[in-house]
Amino acid sequence: MAGLFDEPSVKYARVAVERGVDKYPDGLTYGVPQRLMPLNIGQLVTVPLGRGNTSTSAWVLAVTDDAPDLTPGKETKQLYEKDRDTIALLPDILNLAKWMSNYYCAPIGPTLSTMLPGPVRQGTGLVTKQLVDLAENPPTDVRITPKQQRVLNVLAELPKQKRPIQPKELMQLAGLGSKSPIDKLIEHKQLRCHQVSRIEATWFKQALDARIPNQLTDEQTTIIDAIGDSTSTGYSSHLLFGVTGSGKTEIYIRLIEKAIAQGGTALVLVPEISLTPQTAARLMGRFPDKRIAILHSALTKSQRHQQWALVADGKADIVLGARSAVFAPLHDEQIKIIIVDEEHDHSFKQDNAPRYNGRDVAIRRAWTAKCPIILGSATPSMESWWNATRRNVSTLHKLTKRAPGLTAPTIEIVDMRKERIQGEIGYPILSTRLQTAINQTLATDGQILLLLNRRGFSPWITCTNRTCGWMLKCDHCDTSMVYHRKKPLEQAGFVRCHHCGTEQRMPKTCPDCSKKVIQLGAGTQRVEASLRESLQIPSEQIARLDTDTARKASDLHTTLERFGAGDIRVLLGTQMIAKGLDFPNVKLVGVIDADTAIDFPDFRASERTYQLVSQVCGRCGRGEGSATAIIQTFNPDAPAIILASKTDYETFATNELQFRQGAFVPPAFRMARFIIKDNTFERTAGRADSLRARLQSIEAPGITFSPVAPCVLPRIADRFRFDLTVTSATSQTMQHFLQEARKMSKSGRDIAIDVDPLSML
Ligand code: ADP
Ligand code: ZN
Ligand code: ZN
Repeated sequence: MAGLFDEPSVKYARVAVERGVDKYPDGLTYGVPQRLMPLNIGQLVTVPLGRGNTSTSAWVLAVTDDAPDLTPGKETKQLYEKDRDTIALLPDILNLAKWMSNYYCAPIGPTLSTMLPGPVRQGTGLVTKQLVDLAENPPTDVRITPKQQRVLNVLAELPKQKRPIQPKELMQLAGLGSKSPIDKLIEHKQLRCHQVSRIEATWFKQALDARIPNQLTDEQTTIIDAIGDSTSTGYSSHLLFGVTGSGKTEIYIRLIEKAIAQGGTALVLVPEISLTPQTAARLMGRFPDKRIAILHSALTKSQRHQQWALVADGKADIVLGARSAVFAPLHDEQIKIIIVDEEHDHSFKQDNAPRYNGRDVAIRRAWTAKCPIILGSATPSMESWWNATRRNVSTLHKLTKRAPGLTAPTIEIVDMRKERIQGEIGYPILSTRLQTAINQTLATDGQILLLLNRRGFSPWITCTNRTCGWMLKCDHCDTSMVYHRKKPLEQAGFVRCHHCGTEQRMPKTCPDCSKKVIQLGAGTQRVEASLRESLQIPSEQIARLDTDTARKASDLHTTLERFGAGDIRVLLGTQMIAKGLDFPNVKLVGVIDADTAIDFPDFRASERTYQLVSQVCGRCGRGEGSATAIIQTFNPDAPAIILASKTDYETFATNELQFRQGAFVPPAFRMARFIIKDNTFERTAGRADSLRARLQSIEAPGITFSPVAPCVLPRIADRFRFDLTVTSATSQTMQHFLQEARKMSKSGRDIAIDVDPLSML
């Protein structure tokens, strides 16, 4: 390649290729020509890769004077270019990436890419959206022009609920032809300015009126003091266990106040779906003068870039976000506290490489940042409960009562086995009890939440002939097809596979025996149709929330806003409505089918069921008066359901840990899962067997191998899947084994390694 080596190399750079396979875990070395100096660690560069010298993005891991790992006689390639527009990754983030890449057996390049939001990497433009309001304590030594005074007067006369306001609107009200008087006022601190996305803007105004409790409860005070004392002593880990509505968020707020008072930044992680504006808005409402950066995937590209830049500039007092916010561009010493709310939530785990758990990476970050980390939940994960009660690596704090003014709901279990309709196939969607409760609640002006964790109209299309047993399956996956209606009250529809997205025609008759086919079971659409037909309220007061109706974050927000305003009285949805919502007028919660998780061949089936039931029950009883939760189930004797209905988490957790210990599964044991994929069943089975043989040859005492077997979903999108799990008593044993395993079985398209797996599908 002429032209590549025209200039001498003055330094050498070890880089990680962005879309790398796991071939070079430590990176590749390139020469650096003078024109690319100075070159910084963490910077994005372009390098020639492979025989064809394909131009590829890479991260600079190290810059050295010589190249120790070069094969003698082989010429070094040189970097092509450096990417000037990208903000370099901080050294602390780079170190975190190296740790992650090791721990999760993921190539370093993609790990680094995960840490920088796409829009930041691509340099997608920054657009500012602001809201302005009068400053709290404006400086008095500033000269105010008449135009500026008009702005201040207009703002002062504006009713409270209209503020903060968009500069454009303010310009009109003050009769200004340009925005510059407003900008000057911001510059001179006469106005305060909030950078918010459109989505948050509406919630933000409500949140400013957020109730501030006059007095903390004794329990809250004790916990705040206990954790607060540790802020000066470096790393400490805390599990905050309290039922929904027990005042956990209030504790977070007080701890964040302390962190900011120390001049530091608070990092707050919340699950993706419940990053509903409510949590964000509450923080904003309580910290009106602080700068809060919000990082999550529902923002537009420019918003994400802008928020990230705010943090990178050291201008954020609070960083709030979903899983990937753990990679916020903060120096370790800047972080004074980390909070992970709803720590048990599975959305903290990323389901493609690097398969990290944001909560666990947060623990690592707190460790290197030498600050306290608080994991909060009403239903802690078994891992966190184990850590706090058995391993004593974290401190358990309990809030045993609901906050003053909140009442616990009455929880009832309905045995669906007794609800069979005479002379018909199947069961009704709503039991008599739930039906009655819905009507009563509507008669007394309460609002209702109904949960069903299944999308579509009906999940199964089967033959009516009992001896036939035919069921419509996807041609490309080993799963049943789901029937969707185009509109809930119209017959027209289509069938779709929820795993690969393929659609098929709805067969009129059974292809095997020509008998009639029927749609069995109910998804959210069917429940919606049934509610619309049976309830005596205007149609617009009923709404459904699932990934089909809320394709964009703004759809979710619009519906929640309407529910908050009381325009919607019955809200039906998937787990989207189970988390984090706080609406005081919800008097009834119905779980239409508590069994959606219970029958899974997964050792966490009980845990999931407990969590789902108790999370959704926690959505009511958040205001005046009594509230009821009704749980429909075909397993009324399942301990997870009975204990969730009694809000007895500790008994559940004690029993569950005992079971996990006996079964040699997490959290009592560490686990890693190898998933092997290929195009035919035989080839996949063969590869899985040979992988197992290779892994067994590793010198690693204390590692237990499962047999090789097809996955619970043996085929997805025409790829066959086998898996193999390994367990060990300690993390050290597992890590030693995994590092060896990684050398001999490169993870990639055909083999995925999932360390601390959550999904066993
Ligand atoms: P959690 O996060 O555990 O669900 P929150 O912190 O959201 O609980 O508290 C639930 C409600 O109780 C909120 O409206 C909150 O303002 C209120 N609250 C919290 N602590 C107190 C207190 N000490 N006194 C009165 N109200 C409180
Ligand atoms: Zn499919
Ligand atoms: Zn048939």
